[in-house]
Amino acid sequence: MRYISTRGQSPPVSGAEAILRGPAPDGGLYVPERMPVLPGDFAERLAPLDYPARAAYVLSLFLPEFGRLDGLCREAYQRFDGPPAPLGRLGDVFMLELWHGPTCAFKDMALQVLPLLVNKAKELTGETRDVYILTATSGDTGKAALEGFKDIPGTRVLVFYPEEGVSEVQKLQMVTQEGENVCICAVRGNFDDAQNGVKRVFAKDLSNDRFLLSSANSINLGRLLPQVAYYVSAYTDYLGQSPAVPNPAVCVPTGNFGNILAALYAKRMGVPFGRLVCASNKNNVLTNVIQTGVYDRKRPLAKTESPSMDILISSNFERALHLLGADVNDCMARLAADGKYTLDGDTFTALQAEFDAFWRGDEEGKACIRKVYEETGQVIDPHTAVAAAEVYDNELYRDCIVVSTAHPGKFPQAVLEALGGADLGQYLPIPQALTDAQTKPRRFSASVAPDGIEGFVLDWLL
Ligand SMILES: *Cc1c(COP(=O)(O)O)cnc(C)c1O
Repeated sequence: MRYISTRGQSPPVSGAEAILRGPAPDGGLYVPERMPVLPGDFAERLAPLDYPARAAYVLSLFLPEFGRLDGLCREAYQRFDGPPAPLGRLGDVFMLELWHGPTCAFKDMALQVLPLLVNKAKELTGETRDVYILTATSGDTGKAALEGFKDIPGTRVLVFYPEEGVSEVQKLQMVTQEGENVCICAVRGNFDDAQNGVKRVFAKDLSNDRFLLSSANSINLGRLLPQVAYYVSAYTDYLGQSPAVPNPAVCVPTGNFGNILAALYAKRMGVPFGRLVCASNKNNVLTNVIQTGVYDRKRPLAKTESPSMDILISSNFERALHLLGADVNDCMARLAADGKYTLDGDTFTALQAEFDAFWRGDEEGKACIRKVYEETGQVIDPHTAVAAAEVYDNELYRDCIVVSTAHPGKFPQAVLEALGGADLGQYLPIPQALTDAQTKPRRFSASVAPDGIEGFVLDWLL
């Protein structure tokens, strides 16, 4: 199995090399040369297996040279508080719960696996240098990357987060991070500033004979593949619940387009999903491109109560464009030069054949949190609420699967505004990891302007 760059200017590489590199040298993202195909009876085969075994099965299709991955997946998911990706209900729809990992957001699903994949990839390629992980976060990736790579020998991790763009709990989770190989720095800007700064550093190709610079962002193939696994698993569980609809829609709260892209990969592998529904907050660039064919990032980034989706440049949309047959180089050149591009007719038709899209503002999100609580007694987080706002109670999306991306305890302020009261603990148990963040010592206070990111990285590399 080989991986090619979306921009077609870099040579194909093995899965192991793609995971070690992060982005491709030509600035593109690695994608499978051919999508692996699931056997027709995959759900029957996977139904008796637990989650780590299902994940190992799916990962092996993408990474055959890694050999058996059962042990690796079992180790990766041992820090979860129960089954890693249970399919529950939310009234009349299904809810895929992806926040049972150590940092309480779906990023753990991949970031508990990635460090183990990196180590295995080093073994397979004979790479002996240390791997330095550079990451920009809109709030949840940072903490999950820090927890994943904490004290893993041969690795170091540096995270940039937007100073004013994350929730208080998210920030506390990061600045209280333990571990000898970690570093955290605030950026006086938004997520796009942080992500652009990190991309500029990657473009300089700073790797040398001492270290290899890689990424824990969803531009890394090793982030994407474990996410495909939970969609295959979710459909297996869905069938087990005798649903009325054979081809359920999947509705995903979306920012960098990594999570929903994994659903598209699963569908292309043979999981019979129906519509893929892209849910955005007020930063509705993706709603616009799916509805009109024009991607236009030239607008101010709004701060919302679903901060992990406050993104205007959705990196993984490039992978979708590639899969749907677009001229990726042309689109990305125009995005860089003009801040916008228009899809060609065939790509736009292909995009509309797979995706529905909508967006919801903060008030609608909170109204949904309230309604869901009143009708089901369940508390959902503001990101999940953006997705649920359209499909919960909507006949069009009967039996659909809403993807729940964070524990509400990460965003207590917004949830309490919706439900009333002063303590979220009165509604549901708050995981220890989140309450601990309030009392642990703060270890990191550095902050830079966006144009200081590169200098900070260079100092850190010394
Ligand atoms: C990261 C994140 C998202 C967005 O996921 P993408 O893969 O970037 O589209 C949504 N909700 C939460 C809670 C997140 O942490």
